Amino acid sequence: CGIVGYIGNRDAFPILIKGLHRLEYRGYDSAGVALLNQKDELNIYKAKGKVADLETVAADKDCSGSIGIAHTRWATHGEPSVRNAHPHVSESGNLAIVHNGIIENYAVLREQLKAKGYHFQSDTDTEVLVQLIQFGIDEHGFNLLEAVTNALRKCIGAYAIVVVDKNCPNQIVAARKGSPMVIGVGQNNEEFFIASDATPIVEYTKNVVYVDDEQVACIECGKDLQIYNLDETQAEIVVKHVDLDINMLS
Ligand code: GLU
Repeated sequence: CGIVGYIGNRDAFPILIKGLHRLEYRGYDSAGVALLNQKDELNIYKAKGKVADLETVAADKDCSGSIGIAHTRWATHGEPSVRNAHPHVSESGNLAIVHNGIIENYAVLREQLKAKGYHFQSDTDTEVLVQLIQFGIDEHGFNLLEAVTNALRKCIGAYAIVVVDKNCPNQIVAARKGSPMVIGVGQNNEEFFIASDATPIVEYTKNVVYVDDEQVACIECGKDLQIYNLDETQAEIVVKHVDLDINMLS
């Protein structure tokens, strides 16, 4: 399973697809992508099977947009299917999430959210997370960073997540605990890459930041990367220089 995200000024789609191919060695049963286009429309394409099948599904669709998230899924909750493939979308249709890992207390959270009027489209544990983030925005007026942080405080389990919000087209929020995540920092903070490991990133930038357990990254073009702990204290950013030979990658 794997995660890729991009925000910057290039077309996100080819970067995301290439990144998913680089992560294929990790194993998966389905794949998907969400792109936020110039009109702030969220276009989501999914396929059961290979990344190549996802490319076929997306071939004649609008794949424009310079912000996007992509995923290869290794099903833990819900059968491998298009319906259960990520990205998953919140009740309002504004948020999209990709997730690797397992939310162990998803069943309790799901019942609580259902009682509050949130509808579920899939059998995954992941969908609980995106609805919980939406709930924080709806009920408490949280911004995206606050909503993600608060939702994660309620979750037991492992996660690497990346979230985009139609209402914040210049921002990505990403977080991890137990599942890996690396952020590539482009020149002058003009673009950022998010991935499960550095292989989708190294051909664009050698400057990477490894996100620690229980940290939430707020990624915005033109601004310094910000990383916070779940208690909302600011974490130190350590930029590492990766020297991975791109020719060694298939
Ligand atoms: N638990 C999630 C699901 O079953 C994510 C699985 C993964 O890590 O790919 O959809």
